[in-house]
Amino acid sequence: MSLEDEAQRELDELRERSLLRTPRVVDGRQGPTVVVDGREVVSFSSNDYLGLAGDPRLARAAAAASEVEGAGVGSSRLVVGNHREHVALEAAVADWVRCGAATMFNTGYAANVGVLGALLRAGDVVFSDALNHASIVDGCRLSRAEVVVFPHRDLAALERELVQRTDRRRRIVVSESLFSMDGDCADVAALAELCRRHDAAWILDEAHAVGVRGPEGRGFAAEAGVVPDVLIGTFGKALGSFGAFVATTPAIAALLWNRARPLVFSTGLPPAVAAASRAAIEVVRGGEGDERRRMLAARATRLRELVPDLGGIAEGPIAPRLVGSDAAVMKLSARLFEERLYVQGIRPPTVPVGTARLRISLSSAHTVEMVEQLARSLVRS
Ligand SMILES: *Cc1c(COP(=O)(O)O)cnc(C)c1O
Repeated sequence: MSLEDEAQRELDELRERSLLRTPRVVDGRQGPTVVVDGREVVSFSSNDYLGLAGDPRLARAAAAASEVEGAGVGSSRLVVGNHREHVALEAAVADWVRCGAATMFNTGYAANVGVLGALLRAGDVVFSDALNHASIVDGCRLSRAEVVVFPHRDLAALERELVQRTDRRRRIVVSESLFSMDGDCADVAALAELCRRHDAAWILDEAHAVGVRGPEGRGFAAEAGVVPDVLIGTFGKALGSFGAFVATTPAIAALLWNRARPLVFSTGLPPAVAAASRAAIEVVRGGEGDERRRMLAARATRLRELVPDLGGIAEGPIAPRLVGSDAAVMKLSARLFEERLYVQGIRPPTVPVGTARLRISLSSAHTVEMVEQLARSLVRS
């Protein structure tokens, strides 16, 4: 059978099982309303939690930077592509999250693959939460370390695994703080203490928490007053831009320059992107960031008052509604779309088999009326 025929057969099978994925087309800016496939809908599908993706200040910072610096940097940052804008952004991150050194990666996906690959090798062991993001899963696999998957948020189980493997060269625990598809949260204070007690290193992925939680939007670790060995944050979600950062110590950052393959072997970000991210940090750190976080929490609280069976932490922006069957969740998502409410259905392999769900994500830019409209629709379904 030709590759083409095999591809077609695989697609048919995915469609049969309600697992086929196809991208929709968006016109114009991201925001609480968005034009999807030519139809204006209220979007509850974006990770733009603070409504910054369409913010004119970010767009202007990007435009100004590309006007002066051009569109691309021409090579990996280790060759001729380490632009002043990258360095300025890293300094802004280090100042914001108060770490010894920050290193940018082109995406959060690349950051996880890069960090895990740089810090682990065969003979090491990595302990990974069962619901960690695909980029962490892939980073663990590529690292060649032994991977121990512990049950979601089960620190007693994690501790049992840790004590059984004290002889390894390096032991690293990796977890998200705010989990992307469940909207629940790791107990970061307890994780910090557990890692300290068992002399394990700790990587915390705060992709969905930076901007959203903690003092100045620095995330859950900052809120709890604990410091992971490596903190990963993204610019593409609450910060409304693109790319990711790794906040760590100078020695670990220097090692990443030598061993993190996505950093070494990939072209640096356009200066415009770095400039937009720096503009976003300014907003997120300040009083306006606090106001946006307050509005986001209020929207999240209101939705959960009206629809009590949603998942996720009380004030959190990720509110999944468990449906179970893949066909049913796509039908429900399509029905909401007809009502001009865009709520993405999430299916395996993004979530475990049998746990398909609507993933509702809220933004400070949603009006209370939008949230109430969604609630009315959900209550009917
Ligand atoms: C989205 C996400 C990433 C990937 O970030 P990108 O910048 O979109 O590549 C990494 N980790 C977690 C937990 C995420 O949710």
